[in-house]
Amino acid sequence: MSQTSETVLEIDLSALEHNYNYLRSKLSPETKMLGVVKAFAYGNDSVEIAKRLSKIGIDYFAVAYTREGISLREGGIQKPILVLHPQSTNFEEVIENDLIPNIYSKFTLEAFVKTAEKLQLKNYPIHLKINTGLNRLGFDPEDAAWLNHKLAETKAIKVEGIFSHLAASEDEAEREFTLYQIENYQKTLDKILPKLDDQPIRHLCNTSGIINYPEAHYDMVRTGIGLYGFGNSAAEDKKLKPVGTLKTIISQIHHIKEGESVGYNRVFKAPLATKTATLPLGHADGINRIYGKQKTGVLVNGQIAPIIGNVCMDMLMIDISGIDCQEGDEVILFGKDKSAEEFAHNAGTISYELITSISQRVKRKIIN
Ligand SMILES: *Cc1c(COP(=O)(O)O)cnc(C)c1O
Repeated sequence: MSQTSETVLEIDLSALEHNYNYLRSKLSPETKMLGVVKAFAYGNDSVEIAKRLSKIGIDYFAVAYTREGISLREGGIQKPILVLHPQSTNFEEVIENDLIPNIYSKFTLEAFVKTAEKLQLKNYPIHLKINTGLNRLGFDPEDAAWLNHKLAETKAIKVEGIFSHLAASEDEAEREFTLYQIENYQKTLDKILPKLDDQPIRHLCNTSGIINYPEAHYDMVRTGIGLYGFGNSAAEDKKLKPVGTLKTIISQIHHIKEGESVGYNRVFKAPLATKTATLPLGHADGINRIYGKQKTGVLVNGQIAPIIGNVCMDMLMIDISGIDCQEGDEVILFGKDKSAEEFAHNAGTISYELITSISQRVKRKIIN
């Protein structure tokens, strides 16, 4: 890794490739792989990530919102793109940009059919989402008869996929619930598939589903967090490589006397003489206030320095007492040499939230 002179999120595409290959090795050769690149590819760079994944053989992409799918198309991505959470007001744009909508309710199905018929489309691909227990988006399994009836009425759309999403695939204590979801999904497929001319792509598993439920991979799996280097368990984290490394530098060093305070609201009061460093990133960069007050730490020349006081908008302060360092030295928040999962966990959150929060103000630097 190179020395930085400002705050950067270094994105290592060779780590992405490693994770892709590792996850692929868990699948049988005919199982397709969908890369989830929503939220700017979990805070990385969605176009750069999608380009590399396209090159090494990913089959499909998914984003949350229509706008994100359009960005990928504008970036030259040509693989199929599933929009997981479109609104009916987006449907013309979905079609114009050759995106595939997740149709998750009676309302969205009726609205999409209306748009597709108005544009005189034939067999426009959609994926249907079934709510098997997450209770977030999706048709109730009881809606199968209604769905079969509606789908038979139109030639404008074609069911290219049917999927569902697991609520707790990373949690062994919830295995029974996950097995119930798998069974619920299968029962719903049994009601819908016999009525369709072409067999759709069936997909259920996210990253921890891939790892913990090999019997439920179906025709395709959807992986997000695993591609970026996190396996939702310490054992799996070891086999994956973090794609993003957030680094910055020491802007200024202060020597604080016993009893003096640091930062807004004077939250940190030095119990004894303390050496502090000010770093050029803050909650506007995605290092939220929950990481302050010594909840978690950063790496300075190989040693952990706690974040002290309240995180400011554009700065945060760390305690570097006893650490040999100078202004201009590099600081690692998380990444290759320091676990983002741990950084997040120490402050009571998860890697997903930490990495997707790194704001667009932080420069992305692509390596490898
Ligand atoms: C975000 C998301 C995923 C990816 O989950 P990971 O745990 O990051 O692998 C898969 N499917 C759906 C529906 C999602 O919303």
